[in-house]
This record gives sequence, structure tokens and C-alpha cells, in this order.
Amino acid sequence: MRKKIVAGNWKMNLTFAEAQLLASDVVKEFAANTPDGVELVLCPSFPFIMEVHAKIPSNSSISVGAQNCASESAGAYTGEVSAKMISSLGVTYVILGHSERRAMFHETDELLVKKLGQVLTNNLNPIFCCGETLAEREAGKHFEIIKNQLVNGLFHLASADFAKVVIAYEPVWAIGTGVTASSAQAQEIHQFIREVVTDKYGDAVAIDCSILYGGSCNAANAKELFANADVDGGLIGGAALKAKDFVAIANSF
Ligand code: PEP
Repeated sequence: MRKKIVAGNWKMNLTFAEAQLLASDVVKEFAANTPDGVELVLCPSFPFIMEVHAKIPSNSSISVGAQNCASESAGAYTGEVSAKMISSLGVTYVILGHSERRAMFHETDELLVKKLGQVLTNNLNPIFCCGETLAEREAGKHFEIIKNQLVNGLFHLASADFAKVVIAYEPVWAIGTGVTASSAQAQEIHQFIREVVTDKYGDAVAIDCSILYGGSCNAANAKELFANADVDGGLIGGAALKAKDFVAIANSF
């Protein structure tokens, strides 16, 4: 089902105490300024997931997500965290295909297909990231790059599984740079993504798909970005580390 979602990717930030405090502050701020029909997702580092989850009152529209998961189900994979382990903590979402993981950890489309399988098998919802680099945009290849990421990463799924996927469009040149895609650039790509999904899965599935924007989205620019017909929310990095800013973003629809 298409939802308004604002997800915070805390990346490799915060100590345990800081993560606990941020989770409590988000819960308080959200209770004081509850946006209408918006789901918040907190994606802390693995060691903090349980404690962050414990801070969230039941019946709240705040969920917890992981930033990654293993491509294998279990076994001798030292240092890895399986989707089954994540699922057993009461987590709802897993971010997959973030550009930092594609670039720094050499995550390929093939690896992402395996991770996606683990996520879906364990009843988790993937937040699947796609987006072009600056060089790709300047070469006019952004539509092709994004389509390929979707086709190679997701389009093997049957409709019922695809319906569990949230897509995040994250232009690499906008992530952590302070440079945001313009509202028109975001809408152009989100509309394109929905068209590509329509061609593969049909109108009903495409209309139901939540497509988030990520890349230097903050409390000052979220309103303009979220006003677009095909922008269903945001995947937020830096601004998710401040409770007031994060909840203000969720109140920007
Ligand atoms: C991200 O890493 O997903 C992200 C969008 O980061 P930032 O908001 O800091 O650009």
C-alpha cells in the first residue's frame, strides 16, 4: 500500500547512549507534533536496534529498520547479520542498495538480489535505493542508470513481493553534500520510476508503490520536495540525527 514514509538512516553514527537519547527525543517530538498519516522509520546501527525498538510505544506509527543485511541465511559468515536475526528483533524495514554500500562495499546487482530474497523471505520490507552519480547525470545517463538498477535489482520479483518494496531515489551527488535535487528534478525522476514500474507491473502496482526522495533533504526543503505528486516521503541522513528536524520533515507534507 502506498504510504507517506520518512525514514532516518543514522549510518555509522552515535554511541549507545546517544542513540537511546535520539530515539527517546524522536518519540517525544513525534507525540507532540504527530504528522497526519506519516510513518517514521528509525534505522540505527545493528547494536542499537533492540534498544531503539524498546523506546517506541506500541501502536505508534514509528517503525525500526536496519541499514543492511547479509546475503546468506545463516552459517559461517563472521561479522554478518542475517535478515532472520533482524526480523527476530521486531524490525520492519531493511535499507538495501544504498549508494555508500554499492560504492564502498562493492555491492553488485547480483548481491542485492540475494539480500532482497533474504529480506522478503523473512517478512521484512526492503527500502531499495537507486540513483545516479554526478558524472552519470552530466552524461545524460541518469534515466538509463536508474532503470537498470530497478530492472536488475527488483524486476525478477512477482507482483505480490514487489508490493512490499519501498523505492528510494537518492541521487549520489546529493547525499551528504548539502546539494539537494530541485523539486522539479525529484519529480521528474520519481515520475519516471513510477512509469518504469507501470510498464513492468501495471498501473495498480505502480500507483501503490511508495517512492522516497533522499539526498540532503532537511526541514527547510522537505515541503517543496514532498509537494510533488510522485514523492511519497524521504530517506534522510544528516537531518535524521536531530529529533526536531527529523519530525519537522515528517510534518512537511
Ligand atoms: C542518505 O544517506 O540516505 C542520505 C539521504 O543522506 P543525507 O540526507 O545526509 O544526504
